[in-house]
Amino acid sequence: MNTISRTSLLWLSASMLVSSAAVASGSLNIYSARQEALIAPALDAYAKKYRVTVNLVTGDADTLLSRLKLEGEASPADVFITVDAGRLYRAKEAGVLQPFETNTLDEVVPDHLHDREHYWYGLSQRARVIFYNPKKVNQADLSTYEDLADTKWKGQICVRSSSNIYNQSLVASMIEANGEEATLSWLQGFVKNFSRPPFGGDTDLLNAVSAGVCNITLANTYYYGRLGQSDDAADRKVYEQVKLFWPNQQEGERGAHVNVSGIGMTASAKNKRNVRRLVEFLTDHESQQWYADINNEYPVVEGIAPPKSLQPFGEFKADTISLSALGENNRLAVELMDKAGWK
Ligand code: FE
Repeated sequence: MNTISRTSLLWLSASMLVSSAAVASGSLNIYSARQEALIAPALDAYAKKYRVTVNLVTGDADTLLSRLKLEGEASPADVFITVDAGRLYRAKEAGVLQPFETNTLDEVVPDHLHDREHYWYGLSQRARVIFYNPKKVNQADLSTYEDLADTKWKGQICVRSSSNIYNQSLVASMIEANGEEATLSWLQGFVKNFSRPPFGGDTDLLNAVSAGVCNITLANTYYYGRLGQSDDAADRKVYEQVKLFWPNQQEGERGAHVNVSGIGMTASAKNKRNVRRLVEFLTDHESQQWYADINNEYPVVEGIAPPKSLQPFGEFKADTISLSALGENNRLAVELMDKAGWK
């Protein structure tokens, strides 16, 4: 029995969603910026376990957030799922989320991986780290994010645009760790080391490092893990030719920058009990393992092994600053990136 109804954002009006969700046994309406395949099987399992009708609307993160804002109190959505703490913060600031707690959530999701005021919780973790071409770069010369501003890397680094939330969140974490002034001067040195103007997405950049277009880039771990798992030999070749380096791992250093995919209860939620049960379900042992596996991400719950695709990367020390800070520092991060000329 298929208890979950799915639809693409493009086709569905809010009123259709409401009517299809009007089932006596209880329902739950989800707006998800995660692709259907990366979330739907877990929602299916939840729907069956609790006999809840789940309606899933998937779409682009910014489009879904705009829609939530537009719909306001009339929104049929109970839950918003998206990636990056910076985006979750935007949703909180926009007033489309409300705080919630359960008996278990605070215990199983580490403090730094949920909103300080419980507006959202991380569901999976990714690290944004250094990738390099070992034919061009001696691993022993790599050390920290901060070191990427050193003149020894002149003309060797390529990155994606500063409009991308992942880079904004990384810079926000550096503001938290090092302060505004140090971060601006880091950015100025870092930008000077670019081999060309920012371009592409993380996968394009990993390809560029593999092809020798540049020697070093920053990317999220799941993109690299995905290349290693690909059916396409060309992807696996990129995976072989590019190496991952965990930055800021030495004693006294803060660790690699991590971020989350996460979930929040909408301000308009009508099915609050079902929302709480869903978030507890998604943070139980089995769901965490499945969700991390299918997304090539790290679980947020401690004591669960990372998926096989990430195990070759080994263990690492993660920065444990509160991810709330990534949102709080976002505006300043964008301003400093702009000032430093990161296009
Ligand atoms: Fe991504």
